[in-house]
Amino acid sequence: MSVEKKTKTYPMKNMKIMAIAVLALALNACTTVADDWISLFDGETLEGWTANESPDSWKIEEGAIVTAGVRSHLFYSGDVMEHNFNNFEFSVDVKTQPEANSGIYIHTKFQDEGWPYDGYECQVLNSSGEGDYVEHKMTGSIYAIRNVWKSVTPDNEWFNYRIVVQGKTIQTFINGEIAAEYTEPDEVYRPESFAGRLLSTGTFAFQCHDPGSVVAYKNIKVKPLADDLPTPGTPPADLEFEKKIVDLSSKNFPLIDFHTHLKGGITREEALAHARSYGFTYGIAVNCGIKMGFETDDSLTAYLDAFEPTPYAWHAMQAEGREWLDLFSKESRERFDYAFTDAMTWTNSRGVRQRLWIPAETDIGDPQDFMDQLTAQIVKIVTTEPIDIYVNPTYLPGPIADQYDVLWTDERIDQVVKALAESGVALEINNRNRIPSAKFITRAKEAGVIFTFGTNNGGANDLGRMDYAIEIIDECGLTPQDMWFPGN
Ligand SMILES: [Zn+2]
Repeated sequence: MSVEKKTKTYPMKNMKIMAIAVLALALNACTTVADDWISLFDGETLEGWTANESPDSWKIEEGAIVTAGVRSHLFYSGDVMEHNFNNFEFSVDVKTQPEANSGIYIHTKFQDEGWPYDGYECQVLNSSGEGDYVEHKMTGSIYAIRNVWKSVTPDNEWFNYRIVVQGKTIQTFINGEIAAEYTEPDEVYRPESFAGRLLSTGTFAFQCHDPGSVVAYKNIKVKPLADDLPTPGTPPADLEFEKKIVDLSSKNFPLIDFHTHLKGGITREEALAHARSYGFTYGIAVNCGIKMGFETDDSLTAYLDAFEPTPYAWHAMQAEGREWLDLFSKESRERFDYAFTDAMTWTNSRGVRQRLWIPAETDIGDPQDFMDQLTAQIVKIVTTEPIDIYVNPTYLPGPIADQYDVLWTDERIDQVVKALAESGVALEINNRNRIPSAKFITRAKEAGVIFTFGTNNGGANDLGRMDYAIEIIDECGLTPQDMWFPGN
């Protein structure tokens, strides 16, 4: 690079990015000074570690501590910091067998039996099984408080798990990438069964969850940090809302927004940071269709070839208009984690191609006739197009939006609900437009329809908090079993 290029002036935004980059470099430098790390495991014996109930559940194989048996927890009880840590960085390499559930406790205390009461559990689970209870809190989760709802690491492969506590902030990193972050507010709310999930000081413990959960841990090390480090994170500001987030997270209710967009200049990193602040996981969608994003299979293929996935978000195709199946190949479609569409773009009986959110293109005519056409369009889309989710559902254009409850008659609702139930297409509960209505959702639930949450943000500042979805969970009695997952 030439000297001239280096001396160019940077606008304010770039300066900010540079400052963050310098900070990141500095932090990185701290974390890579190998001398600072202290090993907590000699690779051969359990010296410095104490198992509680069922000590036979622990063995050492090929330099790793392996869980294999009935419930037990293995606490660090050695000399380092007299096994009482405040601020620290902890690092361990982990390998799971399929459906193995385990965890790493921090700031905890030895107890004779049971699930550890004190401190936080950083979750280990890369694949969940089936059955009445499906565990959705995946590896990287700050268990029950700020969860990661997407598995980011495969089974049977070593990955690095790093946990950092500074002041009131906890961060988890998987293979160097941040997974979850949480900063305790001054007034902490906890459900009764998680009352001990608090920062104080304490030791580390590994979890042997059950005989079917086999997990190996090796290269266990810690870097104690100074006690007076400032809290780097920001605590939740709205404590009423925080209570809802913690209640749902502790109840294993997947807080996933499957319909977000990187619009209005927001970067993927900014979107992921926003998601982490609430314990959400995102599906980030690109628009594909006439006058909406990618218009040809070639342009979409070029984008997909250059796309670098993040493990922390799903990657979705938003299909636009009814021509999309002619525009894009099956191969391109299948490179996404899932695909969705809405019924906001269609050609009516008078030959007008409408995008219902654009007044100049929308030709309502007689509202009853419009509704009959819209209902037929939705049924046709849901039953014939290869989509996973019907989004922006039941949307009505501005001039008739206030007649939603009248125009969405029982008969029309039932037609849409029946099509969804029969096709297995999920129904989005849309935060931006607060649709469908609670009545619609209740009828859909009764018919066995499955749901997703989606925001469909228009820009950088309306990613929101999924307020409508969170209200609806309560109002309509939704359970984790009512929710759709990619691959289902
Ligand atoms: Zn969208």
